[in-house]
Amino acid sequence: LQRLRARLARSDNPLSKAMLTLLSGKQLDEETWEDFEDTLLTADLGVGPTTQLTERLRQRFTVDGVTDPEQARNILREELLTLIGPDSDRSINTAGEPGVVMVVGVNGTGKTTTVGKLARVLVAEDADVLLGAADTFRAAAAEQLATWGERVGVPTVRGEEAADPASVAFEAVKVGKENGVDVVLIDTAGRLHTKTGLMDELGKVKRVIERQAPVSEVLLVIDATTGQNGLTQARIFSEVVDVTGVVLTKLDGSAKGGIIVQIQNELGVPVKLVGLGEGADDLAPFDPEMFVDALLD
Ligand code: GDP
Repeated sequence: LQRLRARLARSDNPLSKAMLTLLSGKQLDEETWEDFEDTLLTADLGVGPTTQLTERLRQRFTVDGVTDPEQARNILREELLTLIGPDSDRSINTAGEPGVVMVVGVNGTGKTTTVGKLARVLVAEDADVLLGAADTFRAAAAEQLATWGERVGVPTVRGEEAADPASVAFEAVKVGKENGVDVVLIDTAGRLHTKTGLMDELGKVKRVIERQAPVSEVLLVIDATTGQNGLTQARIFSEVVDVTGVVLTKLDGSAKGGIIVQIQNELGVPVKLVGLGEGADDLAPFDPEMFVDALLD
């Protein structure tokens, strides 16, 4: 988290840069607001939130005639937090016998890695965890998940090659239930062939799991470095399954962070976890206050 803080606060981070312009004590003329808007767009904030934020700030700064940097900072903090949805529940719901967490998203976004990291977090909290390799389309996917399982010390249920993903998910939850496991994490396939195909597939996986136990959480994994594209894909997923939370991966890379605001605004789903690297410990709860403070540092 310290690393994320440092990166967001860097002056070459556009989101941070935009905020600093308003804190610089500079005359807030037309040009400044235009630049501010442009910079927010560069930061992946999206058109809607950019316009909304600029309008709100412009109004508040003009009406209140803000000159005091501390007051300016508080206004920015307030408005940014409002955009991110400060009151959202960001805990991972693992309630159930067992709790079932489905992890969905486009291939390459970091699904399997996230399942591994999340297993590690849950194990550290003394939970009994089982992994289900329901991504049966990519030959290497189950292998990769099982390797994560070994690394964090939890078993993995795998199917035969090219097995029906729903049957593997069903089997995993069944085994979990029979063995009194606390949480079953299901890794799913992320082929974006057609929306109908995806809907049928993920819908079926969920329905079949729910013959054994309710799915307590559906986490959508989004790669923060893919910007607008990632968001379009995310929208499709959120239309086909009931997503309850987002995991934003690769925030350690070149991502600009503004995508967090867009996800909240466009999908209406809270970012619950952030991925900050490829290692087992590189997963952190998303903390809006820390995020905003880092931008305003
Ligand atoms: P999947 O196809 O969605 O299951 O994606 P994988 O879990 O296989 O991850 C794809 C690549 O992204 C791998 O090389 C991961 O190590 C990498 N990756 C996943 N999460 C992160 C992250 O938070 N930061 C960075 N830098 N790399 C990540």
